Amino acid sequence: MDGGFHSLGDAGGMMKHAQAQAAARSAMRWSLSASFLMLALKLGAWALTGSAAILGDAAESVVHLAAVFFASFSLALSQRPPDANHPYGHSKVAFISAGVEGALILAAAVFIAFESVRRWVSGLGVVNLDQGMVLTGVAILVNLALGLFLMRAGRRLDVFILRANGRHVLTDAWTSLGALAGLAMTVLTGSLWWDPLFGLLIAANILFSGWGLVRESVTGLMDEADPAVARQLEQALAHETSARGVSFHALRHRNSGHLHHVDVHLLFPDGILLRDAHRRATEIERAVIAAMPVKMQIITHLETCGDHDKVHAGDPDA
Ligand SMILES: [Zn+2]
Ligand SMILES: [Zn+2]
Ligand SMILES: [Zn+2]
Repeated sequence: MDGGFHSLGDAGGMMKHAQAQAAARSAMRWSLSASFLMLALKLGAWALTGSAAILGDAAESVVHLAAVFFASFSLALSQRPPDANHPYGHSKVAFISAGVEGALILAAAVFIAFESVRRWVSGLGVVNLDQGMVLTGVAILVNLALGLFLMRAGRRLDVFILRANGRHVLTDAWTSLGALAGLAMTVLTGSLWWDPLFGLLIAANILFSGWGLVRESVTGLMDEADPAVARQLEQALAHETSARGVSFHALRHRNSGHLHHVDVHLLFPDGILLRDAHRRATEIERAVIAAMPVKMQIITHLETCGDHDKVHAGDPDA
């Protein structure tokens, strides 16, 4: 009844696991260094131009820096093994990290919208557009490269925090592209309202991505079922149990960030020896774990057909 644990103990796997964790932390350090560079570039561009769109972009960078600090802290924490205080491990901090990041982004969006409207109403102009556009262009290229690198590393190492951070960095590239477009339109048309207009568009885009992160965080913290995982899990269980003359019910599963915890009842023929039932149950656990694309731990509850309803009379989830 402990199939999930048996398969994780081999020494080669442990070493690969440690290497993957080190690679994830190294990717996060790259992200942190790049965030400092981004902030400096954007503050420089804002000081040169006085653009509302670039200010919005820079404000987003401040939030981004805070978020990356928090994300690298929670990455290190989430890698700590389970202990007496946290017997299910520490990986749920990833969902808190995404929630804080999302909340900070929402606050930045409100600030940018406010600043854009203020500049629009007061009719303030922008200057030094050429230098501002070059700096913003450099920021876009750096963010594109970093974002793609983080998304790839997150997928390869299967680390949620890296993927979330990579998506955030790519969103920032779109934000900077918006600021660049605002400046370009100002140069082309000579109309001053392009800049605050793009400032507002940037605020809307940031609002959207911040909301997505908050939503993802709540989904994870509330153990919302992933329909795709549920379907695959039911199929794998049906296949492995029917092949061994067993049926299952009362299936539950929750995602703790890097590991899915599954519990399920297995119904055996009457009169089976506990030794044989345990052997079959362990086979089923291992086969299902091997068949699933996500990492899992399965706990089974062993029952016999004839007396199931009598034994569980009055239990709501028997
Ligand atoms: Zn066992
Ligand atoms: Zn039972
Ligand atoms: Zn049952």
